[in-house]
Amino acid sequence: MTPPPDGPARPDFSLVVPCYNEEAGIAAFHGRATAVAETVGGRWEIVYVNDGSKDATLARLLALRAHDPRVAVVNLSRNFGKEIALTAGLDHATGDAVIVIDADLQDPPEVIPDLVSVYREGYDTVYAQRRQRAGETWLKRTTADRFYRLMQRIGGVPMPRDTGDFRLMSRRAVDALLRLREHHRFMKGLFAWIGFPSKAVLYDRAPRHAGSSSWNYWKLWNFALEGITSFTVLPLKIATYLGLLVAMLAIVYGTVIVIRTLIFSNPVPGYPSLITVILFLGGVQLMTLGVIGEYLGRIFNESKARPLYLIERYLPPDSVRADRNPAG
Ligand code: UDP
Ligand code: MG
Repeated sequence: MTPPPDGPARPDFSLVVPCYNEEAGIAAFHGRATAVAETVGGRWEIVYVNDGSKDATLARLLALRAHDPRVAVVNLSRNFGKEIALTAGLDHATGDAVIVIDADLQDPPEVIPDLVSVYREGYDTVYAQRRQRAGETWLKRTTADRFYRLMQRIGGVPMPRDTGDFRLMSRRAVDALLRLREHHRFMKGLFAWIGFPSKAVLYDRAPRHAGSSSWNYWKLWNFALEGITSFTVLPLKIATYLGLLVAMLAIVYGTVIVIRTLIFSNPVPGYPSLITVILFLGGVQLMTLGVIGEYLGRIFNESKARPLYLIERYLPPDSVRADRNPAG
């Protein structure tokens, strides 16, 4: 974590942009983002995090930085995933307010002035909420919808629907968020967990500008699993009650068999019912073990207490660096 520079060197706004294989669209993004920054005014820094891209993203970012003193580049040592890239960016952002935005222009930078004006009303978190999902399949829309509903119900903290990471946070909200150093970073949940006065700004989400989304359904499923296991132990409770229910049914069934044997003696049938019960119980047990395993695996990962990410190099914005080290 970098200590914030003091005095006038501290920017008013930091834009945090995680980038993974974004060579095609990053220049367009920078153009639109800086145009918006100029309309908003104030001192800006733009923190690009290169999340181990396999294409020329890093070279593009360094080129941007060579021409724009507001650009900072955090180059991670490998691909750590968006959540961690975002955290690395937040760690290095020094602004009084921090805006998190995707590099693929799906979060239109033109929404930022609205975020800023709501922030100036005194809100700590201003999140951009999608009005509609252009360019996404019906299946993705419905699964996302179901997921938000489920999380709202069982997650404990209310998570706003149709909200991604695109948001503005005040300095104290960012500092609060950065105190949560867990490895399994379910950002939607973490954002919600910190609380503070929050407000939504509605916008239309654009389809991807260039390149392709790195999400697929397997990843989405794991994302959902991450959300559930990071924010609730309900599945563990369900396992307990499922076990209890099955045990009770077994007692009832056992009683029925005993009574039937007493009344009608024992004709020794029962292979189908026996195998059904055995298979069912085997299935329930394996599933329950799997649920416990999900949590155990997370405990294992957290207990290793590794750093969240490693940095290959960090290049601060020239504007800030010049102010920070007047001697050279
Ligand atoms: N991203 C990242 N690391 C990754 C995957 C994605 O930093 O491992 C960045 C990506 O460059 C983009 C943002 O996270 O700026 C959102 O990624 P993407 O567009 O693939 O996700 P979606 O928009 O489908 O949620
Ligand atoms: Mg995207």
